[in-house]
Amino acid sequence: MSLDVAHVGDPMIGCLCRLDPSVPYEGPRAPAATLGGSPTWGLGDRFHEFAAGLGHTRLDLVRPRTPYGLGPQVERYRTPAGREFLRIPTYGQVVGEDPLLHGSEWKAFWICWQAGVRVLLVGGTSGSCDWRRAAADEAAVRPGDLVLPKSYLARHPMPTGLPGTELEYCLPRRVAIMNDPFCPPLAEALREEAARLDDPPGFRFRRVHGPEAGVVLNRWLAGNGFESLAMCRELEAVGRLTGMPIVTGDCVSPVLARVCGMHLAYYHVVANWGTGLEPEDPTITLDRLYMETLPRVAATLELGLLDRLAEPAGCRCRELLRTRPAAYERALSPPAPAT
Ligand SMILES: [Zn+2]
Repeated sequence: MSLDVAHVGDPMIGCLCRLDPSVPYEGPRAPAATLGGSPTWGLGDRFHEFAAGLGHTRLDLVRPRTPYGLGPQVERYRTPAGREFLRIPTYGQVVGEDPLLHGSEWKAFWICWQAGVRVLLVGGTSGSCDWRRAAADEAAVRPGDLVLPKSYLARHPMPTGLPGTELEYCLPRRVAIMNDPFCPPLAEALREEAARLDDPPGFRFRRVHGPEAGVVLNRWLAGNGFESLAMCRELEAVGRLTGMPIVTGDCVSPVLARVCGMHLAYYHVVANWGTGLEPEDPTITLDRLYMETLPRVAATLELGLLDRLAEPAGCRCRELLRTRPAAYERALSPPAPAT
């Protein structure tokens, strides 16, 4: 069945794709996946070569179809310990396609959902809007730090379901409670993995801010520019008022991960201060950071974690997708009859 519609979903999110719910999933399956992201950008299309150097084998490289059009590249790996994971590069984004209009987040999540993924690893980078910027503020979230955020802000509409599937709009049936959006045991596993890092030799993050530090991620994805000075000042002020420092950065929708029954492991490497909060133009040094230091560190962190990762049991990620009374769904008009 092809619904042959030009637009599906929230008009603010948009999607210039045809929705075809009958498309079967023909890609590989695995219990864990990484969506790559800006921390490993500098490796370009050579992630598999770097992984091979650490004993990981790429088993498959496919491009599955999805109900929203041709999906992104999907790689399947086997780790040295024999675990398998999928990798979709850069949050599912495709060269020349507007990620919002072409629904890259829907495609990536539909693939992971169909593939049976329970643990989703996502990395992000970008700026700190911490109000504590004096040199003596050792606890501040600074460039060079690793952050495992406690919560997030969603300032732009984000996908919360998968159109054309049973997860299209499940709020009347199941509601995602967004306490602990980033799986706490997986945050702990990321912290442990960061402590084991020794590549490049002697490398250490300046500081690791775990969930107990209460850092908030100002979530965005696929923006076409850095945050404005005004937004950074606003985030700085909100952080000071709430006592929760804010970082800005790419991350997929935590709600969509919960709705899909996945534990979301998110790590953020602080690359710069929020644009305009410091006098320097961050782009002068960022390319060097992204090309030289970050990819090696982030890829080693991800691969080390994926080699020993099992679905966590001591968290509430799946429990927090709460089933609701049947009356709620009956309070809506019934679905349109099949034609
Ligand atoms: Zn969890």
